[in-house]
Amino acid sequence: MFGKNKILKPEIHEGASLKVQEIFATFQGEGPFVGYPSVFVRLGGCNLACDFCDTEFDSFKEISLEKILKKVEELSAQNLSKKDFFVLQELKKMNIILPPEIENWLSLERKRNLVVITGGEPLRQPIERFCEELIRRGFLVQIETNGTLFRNLLKEVKIICSPKISDKKYHKIRPDLLARIDALKFIISASNLDYSGFADVGQNEIEEKTGRKIPIYLQPMDEYSESKNLDNIELVRSLAEKNNAIISLQIHKYLGIS
Ligand code: SF4
Repeated sequence: MFGKNKILKPEIHEGASLKVQEIFATFQGEGPFVGYPSVFVRLGGCNLACDFCDTEFDSFKEISLEKILKKVEELSAQNLSKKDFFVLQELKKMNIILPPEIENWLSLERKRNLVVITGGEPLRQPIERFCEELIRRGFLVQIETNGTLFRNLLKEVKIICSPKISDKKYHKIRPDLLARIDALKFIISASNLDYSGFADVGQNEIEEKTGRKIPIYLQPMDEYSESKNLDNIELVRSLAEKNNAIISLQIHKYLGIS
């Protein structure tokens, strides 16, 4: 959207239907669950408008929860395509650690057990019921959020937060959400100076109060320029080394999958 999206407010309703951009089967390409075969549910709209954002999330349809769940179930059970096998082989070559059951993948009824709810901003919509249904059906559920909104989700839901900048400052993560976050993921750019480092968005206080250290992933911004992207990777490498952080590459882009 490259900052051109309309900023949408959080919605208040029962969550019997959600605005969905797309639902598709793929592999998680980044962060703590990298390499997991997944079903992605991309929800429509965002409450921020970041100028580097390359995700399309503004042409969505309202779909009932029942239909969304049916689609997720169908995709999670779908047989592997030739492309999936190619991706699996490439992941193995990259030494990506896959969940143990993947070794027996062909015999599994459910081929993709991870559901990633992303956006836009997924917490803009009331996804509590959706998450509850997925957990009840035995899915592992991961949310990718910008950290500015809160929903009271089941504790089983894994929350990955990628903080964003407005007016040259990182948004602090809401304390109620921060207490629930499983990992922080910062986007890093050598040329977009706002994103040339990362900041305390509240994680230091959590560590001081509870002793819990939230893992930090650093991910090079994709700026659609080979030289800029190489500079971004180099910056990520040096920041990760200095700060004991984890490098996250968007491997789906290297593998040519969405
Ligand atoms: S918060 Fe995320 S989805 Fe929303 S505009 Fe920024 S990068 Fe894009």
